[in-house]
Amino acid sequence: MIAKQSIPQHLRYSFEDFLRQFPDNDACLEHMKEQRWLRGITYCETCKADKKHHRVTGRTAYACETCGWHIYPLAETILEKTTTSLRTWFYAMYLMGSTRCGISAKQIQRETSVTYKTAWRMFKQIRTLLFEDIKLEGPAEMDETCFGGRVRGLRERPEAQEQNPHCGHRT
Ligand SMILES: [Zn+2]
Repeated sequence: MIAKQSIPQHLRYSFEDFLRQFPDNDACLEHMKEQRWLRGITYCETCKADKKHHRVTGRTAYACETCGWHIYPLAETILEKTTTSLRTWFYAMYLMGSTRCGISAKQIQRETSVTYKTAWRMFKQIRTLLFEDIKLEGPAEMDETCFGGRVRGLRERPEAQEQNPHCGHRT
């Protein structure tokens, strides 16, 4: 693990950065879209072409500008069926990412005002995501890839949920 003090100030992802990057749920959804489709280029299955997609009001979907077919940035991610707001999830990810899991489910409950059951579920799922990052890239400092990144890896390696050498002992 890289000691916190060794990370130069300008490379740290601060709470201010978080607030700026994710002011609301829409910004979080947009981020998920960009993560999922590289550089935000979205493919329409119906048109069989890259198409511009517009946000569908009131839903976590974007519609093809030509045919109206919907795409769902949250599909097959840990956020797919959640009733907790995206920003709450992102904030929990920020907290866990910036402390490298050195935060408990109880603290997440306190910080985000969700129930303990919800906080615990988020904690478990985010820990798996961060663990994926650690395994793939080494113990890097918090950056924006922590937000909803690596989601598709979850299905391929469900065993990653079992043990986390960096975080497991704290729970
Ligand atoms: Zn289309």
